Amino acid sequence: MTTPEAFGHEPIEVGGDWPNRAVVCARCRWSYPQIGNRPAHRRYVPWPCTSAVVLGLALRTTAPAPAAG
Ligand SMILES: [Zn+2]
Repeated sequence: MTTPEAFGHEPIEVGGDWPNRAVVCARCRWSYPQIGNRPAHRRYVPWPCTSAVVLGLALRTTAPAPAAG
């Protein structure tokens, strides 16, 4: 399977063992700096992210094939 224009959007696993494990987008994640008493943390976006869907990288369901002809 080729992904000609992924722009860095690809599924990766994070968290280690279940239930902490999750498949997230390698690009759509942000790191927040420490603000006041809130420690720095990271936010992940579950795969497929919106960009992946738009780019056609994450076709989770098999779309019904259009009738030929
Ligand atoms: Zn993404």
